[in-house]
Amino acid sequence: MKALVTGAAGFIGSTLAERLVGQGADVVGIDCFTDYYPRPLKERNVAGLRQAANFRLVDGDLLDVDLDALLDGVTHIFHLAAQAGVRKSWGRDFDVYVSNNIAATQRLLEACTGRRLDRVVYASTSSVYGDETVIPMREDARLQPLSPYGVSKLAAEHLGHLYHVNHGLPLVALRYFTVYGPRQRPDMGFHRFLSSAMDGRPLTRYGDGEQTRDFTFVADAVSATVAAGARGVPGRVYNIGGGSRVTVNHVFEIIGRLTGTPVQIEQLPPQKGDMRDTYADTTRAAADLGFAASVTLEQGLAEEYAWLKSERA
Ligand code: NAD
Repeated sequence: MKALVTGAAGFIGSTLAERLVGQGADVVGIDCFTDYYPRPLKERNVAGLRQAANFRLVDGDLLDVDLDALLDGVTHIFHLAAQAGVRKSWGRDFDVYVSNNIAATQRLLEACTGRRLDRVVYASTSSVYGDETVIPMREDARLQPLSPYGVSKLAAEHLGHLYHVNHGLPLVALRYFTVYGPRQRPDMGFHRFLSSAMDGRPLTRYGDGEQTRDFTFVADAVSATVAAGARGVPGRVYNIGGGSRVTVNHVFEIIGRLTGTPVQIEQLPPQKGDMRDTYADTTRAAADLGFAASVTLEQGLAEEYAWLKSERA
């Protein structure tokens, strides 16, 4: 296998690239180190990978890099590069979402046409669903994103489907449900909650804390992604979730137990674009990909906490 991983210096992309490299694949990563969060954090994500003989990192932007050269000999593409984050996607910043999520994906898909590829795996998101979706969410539910981020990721998912239907691209889309674990982005909930608790600062709670999330440990998300590259059915979309539906208040309790002190809460109103509940029906991923989440929330949070402590040591 010669794999291209886009967004390879990011949270999930770097963890995926490590898994593929460990399995002996020849891996080319690309990342343009966007300033959404600091470059040194991303550099740390790829520090180990840079030592591997079967890994090469291209510091480049999908919007202007020579894609023909990049795709030379590539058999599998894992397209994870994106502008993430729901809350920042309103207002002027939407331009960044259009460029990095929609235009960059269209440029990559176009460059794929006429090539012999085994699979192109696209990292989509539970944010393509809205608050009207029946829980647990099934892939065939009506899609009505609540945030501009969700709209941009859904547009790219649709583009992928178009290139599958019209150009025969073996496109498999995965809708990840809130991924967490070591290297989690600093803007994401668990990273912020754990950091605040470690500093003795209050944890910010938006709304009543009774909103629920299906949290997916990063190693499980990576296993699903590797399986999608091997045997995902082209043209199909799969939910990838951690298998439990947990309130934010419950997460705070676990964090209190982990850190050994009950957390203090700073109360803020609900945020525009945040979904009330997410919970994945993963029947399809189980059947086609053999997917089953293997890490409980308690175990996964303990791993993220241990990682954060080691980063500060
Ligand atoms: P991340 O921000 O850590 O990684 C994304 C990487 O893509 C960044 O390092 C960024 O520099 C790079 N990038 C952005 N635009 C680029 C471009 N034009 N050219 C080259 N590189 C570019 O984010 P993440 O949390 O690892 O998310 C990875 C993927 O998974 C994204 O597509 C995201 O939408 C999706 N996803 C993530 C989650 C989650 O919970 N983390 C949930 C659902 C979906």
